[in-house]
Amino acid sequence: MTEERRRHTQVAVIGAGIAGLGAAIQLKRRGLDSFTVYEKGEDLGGTWRDNTYPGAGCDIPSHLYSYSFAPYRDSAVRYPRQREILAYLHRCAADSGLAPHLRFGTEITELRYEDETGRWRLRTTGGEEYTADVVVTAVGQLSLPKYPALEGVDEFAGNAFHTARWDHGHDLAGRDVAVIGTGSSAAQVIPEIAPLVRKLYVYQRSANWVLPKPGERFHPLMAALLRRVPGAHRAYRSLLFRRSEAVLLPALRRSRISGLLRMMAGRHLKSQVTDPELRAKLTPDSAIGCKRIVLAADYYPALARDNVEVVTDPIERVTEKGIQTRDGTHRESDTIVYATGFRTTEFLAPLKVTGRDGQDLHETWSDGARAHLGIHVPGFPNLFLMYGPNTNLGHNSVTLTLEAQAGYIAQCVELIAEREERSVLDVGQETLDAWQRQVDEGSRRTVWTDSCTNWFKTDDGLLTNNWPHPTTLYQRLTARPDPTAVRLLPAGRPLHP
Ligand code: NAP
Repeated sequence: MTEERRRHTQVAVIGAGIAGLGAAIQLKRRGLDSFTVYEKGEDLGGTWRDNTYPGAGCDIPSHLYSYSFAPYRDSAVRYPRQREILAYLHRCAADSGLAPHLRFGTEITELRYEDETGRWRLRTTGGEEYTADVVVTAVGQLSLPKYPALEGVDEFAGNAFHTARWDHGHDLAGRDVAVIGTGSSAAQVIPEIAPLVRKLYVYQRSANWVLPKPGERFHPLMAALLRRVPGAHRAYRSLLFRRSEAVLLPALRRSRISGLLRMMAGRHLKSQVTDPELRAKLTPDSAIGCKRIVLAADYYPALARDNVEVVTDPIERVTEKGIQTRDGTHRESDTIVYATGFRTTEFLAPLKVTGRDGQDLHETWSDGARAHLGIHVPGFPNLFLMYGPNTNLGHNSVTLTLEAQAGYIAQCVELIAEREERSVLDVGQETLDAWQRQVDEGSRRTVWTDSCTNWFKTDDGLLTNNWPHPTTLYQRLTARPDPTAVRLLPAGRPLHP
């Protein structure tokens, strides 16, 4: 094989997390074999490779947090933990024979569309270059850790790390630890570390609504039923899916169900926290669902422990020995855990992406990321985004949108490949505008655009991350490429028009 051919692939997939693996599997299933998955890490798994903090797991049931075609083998587990999800993804990749396609330790830093050839040029951190006819970005929305811009962070003499970059060599036993943030990651890590540490300070900027999470494992009878009765797995998955569509989505659209959820969350708080002062601190002042609801049975009891203090006074600065709050109190700690989430609205960052006529993707998105179906950006032919703008699900399992995208993109690749003349697929601005109107109309109805901080919207309040309509609508829209929306054009253009 010539060097040029070795460096060219029909489809370049960037990222080997759930999305990228899903795309690779769908390509394989359609007999498309010329593809490479570039992964910056040394293993697959994306967010489930990176988030190894104690207690890391998924609060969406395993039967739904999976590809529809690859059920979990161990049906005894209702909520999968990080290592189970990672093992599941390894199994899916192995079952589909993806190993020869995975290129680890290869971070793509730049994508450039060549107008003359109609191909994409990929550049790595090491300066290597590859070319591809089609590029699929699957870099996640929750992959870049967000560190708070606090004064004095560099002065801290202890050990500080983010939940997504857990320092397993740092033993927390007997230490004084500060956790900053009280989202879903914090709610999972706090119950695990609270019994180990001497003192735990939890710095809460705003409280989250918490709903009780059922037990991690099924009753043995239910587990046996799911494992042995044909069709039981599918029926259970379908029930979970329909329940989320019928109950959670209306709740997030401020229906009467939101009142019911709020009542349940209020009762949960009351039953688990008896101290009125702590209860007041933990009572959110935002609408339920505006922030992602925390699902946990062990979070409040951990906060109520004698060695745990919930600090609600705003952080003034980090010092050499701890954290000082605005009221002047200094609390010493030798470890700081940043449970402060991710840079979720910076889609595709830090990748530099240049499309047709030298158009810069991040400049195009300076007012917020937008893409038709969350997949296509006009002027960026043959570039397909997975988990792009407005495709996160706040009410159901994100694996559903990712699987829909993988199937859709594989069909687009087939369409492109079927043409006798080398072609590129693009959408027009009017298609994106119509899509955006549909998204914006839905966003206005949801509670996410209320006045609370959440990771679904930009600082200007534009909802860029979540899909505000039923999942079934997204699945319908991505069932097959719409010939009135996508355009196939000859690849490249003559050097002398
Ligand atoms: P997050 O939900 O974005 O929470 C970040 C937390 O850090 C918030 O409490 C935030 O406070 C706080 N924070 C941020 N900047 C701060 C600052 N400068 N000073 C003080 N506090 C600050 O992040 P996350 O908990 O990592 O979760 C992110 C998402 O990952 C989740 O919503 C979920 O979708 C996913 N996740 C899922 C699971 C699961 O079980 N499925 C588990 C973990 C994570 P404010 O609320 O005031 O902004």
